[in-house]
Amino acid sequence: MDCLFCKIFQGHIPSKKVYEDDNVFAFHDISPMAKTHILFIHKKHTANVNGLSTIHVGQVFTAIKTYVATTDLEKSGFRIVTNTGPDVGQTVFHAHFHLLGGEKLKGFGA
Ligand code: AMP
Ligand code: ZN
Repeated sequence: MDCLFCKIFQGHIPSKKVYEDDNVFAFHDISPMAKTHILFIHKKHTANVNGLSTIHVGQVFTAIKTYVATTDLEKSGFRIVTNTGPDVGQTVFHAHFHLLGGEKLKGFGA
């Protein structure tokens, strides 16, 4: 399948991995929008979150929680964003969750 994020978690395209388990893979965003900007993906290929089951979403959020607990983000706070569809800025069509933090972020609409 010609999918950038499938190729990344399969190791065909290099990434800066920060977390992996049987279902979930996480790596640094190549173009960070905050001091900390990590992408969490489920290994099941689906274009966006509409294709993920509640179990899949739970596995991703459990992974985020596990990762965050190993960082300062647990104390300082973080934001999770998932763009669904080109109108809201989705550019890679393998469902992913942006984990943003490490600095003071502007509020939504700012
Ligand atoms: P979105 O715009 O919500 O679909 O998010 C896609 C994200 O993937 C963007 O923040 C990009 O900077 C990021 N991205 C694109 N190519 C790569 C890559 N090769 N490695 C890491 N992140 C990437
Ligand atoms: Zn994929």
